[in-house]
Amino acid sequence: MTTTAAFPDGATLYAVATTGIYCRPACPSRPPLPKNVRFFADAAGAEAAGYRACLRCRPARAA
Ligand SMILES: [Zn+2]
Repeated sequence: MTTTAAFPDGATLYAVATTGIYCRPACPSRPPLPKNVRFFADAAGAEAAGYRACLRCRPARAA
């Protein structure tokens, strides 16, 4: 994802509303549209919101 600099304070992961997946900033997957991105402080927060961990960057391990 190329918009890492736009991460708000405290956010370590981003989720994509259209896919239901959350990722680490360094995920090799294609960057999502900014309007579809949601930010989370940790994996627990993302999962509580109904998102699933990406299988490529394994954000659950990072958190
Ligand atoms: Zn990912």
